[in-house]
Amino acid sequence: MENSNSRPQKGKTKKKLRLFRALTVVFALLFVGALVYAIVSANSNAKEIESLKRQIDGLRDTLTEKTNENIAFQSTVSSLSKQNEELNNKYEKLNEDTQSFQTTVTSLESQIEQLEEERNSLSSELESTKKTVETLRNTNKSLTDRINALTNQSSSSTEQTKIAYLTFDDGVSKYTDEILDILKRYNVKATFFPNWKGNSNEKYKRMIEEGHAVGNHTYTHEYDSVYTSLDGFISEVTKLNDKIYQATGYTPVIFRFPGGSNNTVHRNYNKDIMQQAISALSDLGMQYYDWNVNSGDADSSKGASKDTILSNVLARSTMDKAVILMHDTNTKGTTVAALPEIIEGLIAKGYTFGTLLDPGAPLVQSLKPES
Ligand SMILES: [Zn+2]
Repeated sequence: MENSNSRPQKGKTKKKLRLFRALTVVFALLFVGALVYAIVSANSNAKEIESLKRQIDGLRDTLTEKTNENIAFQSTVSSLSKQNEELNNKYEKLNEDTQSFQTTVTSLESQIEQLEEERNSLSSELESTKKTVETLRNTNKSLTDRINALTNQSSSSTEQTKIAYLTFDDGVSKYTDEILDILKRYNVKATFFPNWKGNSNEKYKRMIEEGHAVGNHTYTHEYDSVYTSLDGFISEVTKLNDKIYQATGYTPVIFRFPGGSNNTVHRNYNKDIMQQAISALSDLGMQYYDWNVNSGDADSSKGASKDTILSNVLARSTMDKAVILMHDTNTKGTTVAALPEIIEGLIAKGYTFGTLLDPGAPLVQSLKPES
């Protein structure tokens, strides 16, 4: 059998082999295609990766750039917030300043209001003062008329030789200005023999400026200081002269002894002092004066009444040249009260007025110098 079958069998095998070869080629071709495809596609992937990497790098750069920008921005933000804080502080301070300014404005406004009120009250005071001045002016005029009438009356009845020398000892005092006002009102000049009362320069000055005579009555008026020794006496005189010179620019050249030149009080201290003092005054170029009419305003420690003083002066002024003793001290209010009527009474008796510095003033001295 084998032989019988061998030929056909041999043909069949050949066909199968051919088919197998064909199939193998097909598979090989397919395999190669797949391989080529894989290679190509791998290559293209690599390129893509490369491009992606580049993109990533680009993005990384961008990120770095943005991060830097962010940092810069952050620092800008923090500097701005610092500025903002400072501005806030300034604003707060301004607010405080504004408030304190407002307070000041309010207080100034109330001060202005107060000042306006004061101004108004001063205005009305001024108005009333003007009226007072007007009244005083009228009073002054009627007083002047009265003096003129009295003067005429006296000149028609008596000779024009009677002169009264009003003298005021022991000043200055709280009454000095009032005395000066009265003398000014009557246009009468007088003589003052003050002591030194300190811090009253204006009063001494007024006496000089208003034409009165200013003499020396010792610095303290203390009897033991004035009458114990000659040196003490001279010091009492020169110290007061210096003080009055400092206050007024004028040095007194007339003198009145405390207690008068015929006082007995010096005997308690030094019975020989008076003549020594008199010659010391002469050496100093000074003249001393007593009085011939005592107003009696120092007669009692309680003080004399106004009427007593007035009647004493008018009754005792009988001589042509009357040197009248009065006092300018804090306890002599009644002397001041009597002064206007004393002046009017003396005018009525025919007196005019002078000071002890006038030429022809009488040298009234109770104790004369020993020759
Ligand atoms: Zn005296």
